[in-house]
Amino acid sequence: MRAEVIAIGDELTSGQRLDTNSQWLSAELGVLGVPVVFHTTAADTLEAGVEAFRAAADRADLVVATGGLGPTADDLTRDVLAAVAGSPLELSPEALTAVESRFARRGMPMPESNRRQAVFPRGSRIIPNPEGTAPGIDLDVAGGRTRIFALPGVPAEMRTMWRDTVMPAILGMLPERATIVQRRIKCFGAGESAIEAMLPDLVRRGRDPLVGITAHEATITLRIAARGRDEAECQGKIADTEATIRNCLGPLVYGVEDDELEDAVVAAVAAAGMTLATAEVGTDGRVAALLAQAAARSPQGGCFRGGRVLPRSADAGLADALAARARAEHDAAVGLGIGPVEPMADGRGEIEVALVTDAGVERFRHMLGGGAFLAGSRAAKFAIDQVRRWALARG
Ligand code: AMP
Ligand code: MG
Repeated sequence: MRAEVIAIGDELTSGQRLDTNSQWLSAELGVLGVPVVFHTTAADTLEAGVEAFRAAADRADLVVATGGLGPTADDLTRDVLAAVAGSPLELSPEALTAVESRFARRGMPMPESNRRQAVFPRGSRIIPNPEGTAPGIDLDVAGGRTRIFALPGVPAEMRTMWRDTVMPAILGMLPERATIVQRRIKCFGAGESAIEAMLPDLVRRGRDPLVGITAHEATITLRIAARGRDEAECQGKIADTEATIRNCLGPLVYGVEDDELEDAVVAAVAAAGMTLATAEVGTDGRVAALLAQAAARSPQGGCFRGGRVLPRSADAGLADALAARARAEHDAAVGLGIGPVEPMADGRGEIEVALVTDAGVERFRHMLGGGAFLAGSRAAKFAIDQVRRWALARG
């Protein structure tokens, strides 16, 4: 089975927005073992859409498309599909009720233009949209040789509909019926390629379970995807691979699934029976913000006592002075200090981080890299991660 992914929208073809939907969908299809052989991006015109879907119907067995299902005049995907399938558009009373009740729940009258979202080419199966008004369209074309799934462009809606409806439908189309279970392992403290190098032969195509690696603001996610006859077989395979990963990476692994590094830091401090206070100059309040947000999400959040944020221009002393002051001010077991950005000869910057505890002072240096926002985000994560490691070693 060969797949094609289509993205629709003028904001994509004009360069105003990056097409992240196609990237995400292709990775998902890869996990199912379905090769994606073409990506097509089309503007919001009937002609471009028809051309794109005709070509795809000719050369792919499965097409997953996003965009152009909204209520406005430039949202033409339903008209495009009607033209490609040679089927008239028909109003679905059930879909209309669903769209209407969504507006009713918010106490708003439904704009007339939203009626369009309840119209489908004859023969369509409707893909429910639990997070928005635009349902998706599941339609056979080319005499039943190609199946098209059209989803809205809004990434969160698209993903939910993929997981709830489209992925299960595609699994049902595969020759051998399979179950797929996924698990994400979250890491911090080394780069993507360094982590890959520490995992012998784990990140490679065709492996079962498949292990994929992605990076976002210095957090590395390893995604394990296992295929099996049933859930239990998949879980068994995942457990083996997860154990290998944890063995190889040790404390670089901080969590799973949606865990953020700051949540792991707060949990580690609480588990060690400690309290934490911070003071930062070079990170624009990012350290305090991360920890305050994590503390608010955690029942043990009281272990974060507070954070002082100083402007970059402040003459605040070095990281260890900041850490000692934060610790004393909040009567905390651990003081974390982040010093000013120190320019280096090559034009980059460096930042000093200090931990003050009853065991004394520990200092760390972090080289800033990436654009200003990314550098700040990485530096803040680097700083709080020192607390996690210290607490893990102590707890
Ligand atoms: P649409 O369903 O085409 O009206 O898209 C609604 C919104 O979803 C757009 O305004 C974009 O913000 C977003 N969007 C659409 N297509 C994509 C895409 N391929 N990748 C990322 N975001 C998208
Ligand atoms: Mg649009």
